[in-house]
Amino acid sequence: MNKIVTNYNEILLEIAKYKNKSIHNQFEPQLIAVSKTFPKETIEVLLNEGHRIFGENKVQEASKKWVELKKKYNNTELHLIGPLQSNKVALALKIFDVIQTLERDKIALKIKNYFDDREKVCTKRLFVQVNIGNEKQKSGVDPKLTKQFVDWCKNDLKLNIEGLMCIPPFGDEQNSFFIKLKQLCDDLKLKHASMGMSSDYKSAIMHGATYVRVGSGIFGARS
Ligand SMILES: *Cc1c(COP(=O)(O)O)cnc(C)c1O
Repeated sequence: MNKIVTNYNEILLEIAKYKNKSIHNQFEPQLIAVSKTFPKETIEVLLNEGHRIFGENKVQEASKKWVELKKKYNNTELHLIGPLQSNKVALALKIFDVIQTLERDKIALKIKNYFDDREKVCTKRLFVQVNIGNEKQKSGVDPKLTKQFVDWCKNDLKLNIEGLMCIPPFGDEQNSFFIKLKQLCDDLKLKHASMGMSSDYKSAIMHGATYVRVGSGIFGARS
């Protein structure tokens, strides 16, 4: 069997196993196959296995690959997991089903304006990125300001905020950051916690992840 398919099936089994071990087992955690840098042909291996949830970190790259893939395969769910620049907002709203990296006032306003201009309510699924370890070099809203930002997006801008996402600092303290993000989700009554990557998705599930984002663990190392 193809190595990608073998990896994929193993990860699905691990997800089910850790979900059962977790106290947060109301939802089946969803696997986002992170296909950034990989070509369409590689992605199609998983699409042909029936997988439909994917993540990309660049708007332009995603658009190049996914306009075609979305025509060919029904019911795909594409997540933006990389930074969103204001000049890419319209394109991102067209190609992505979920934007996980909302973190700035300016971008939130752009999204609101996009829907206002079309006289539509914002139905786009949005997650707010939280800088859970307060790292200088990382994107995301300060954990202490997350409630304020989420409330503003929901109440003033009428944006459809469904969850939070984080990329914790490297090291062996991931668990404490996963606990913190899950707690924030619960406090803000947000359904989704997007946390955990190839190296730590199991502990993320133990701590209540509803989406895990796995790239190299499925597709192999990126060049
Ligand atoms: C690339 C990426 C991932 C996947 O990382 P792997 O270590 O390859 O599983 C997950 N989340 C984000 C935000 C990424 O940019």
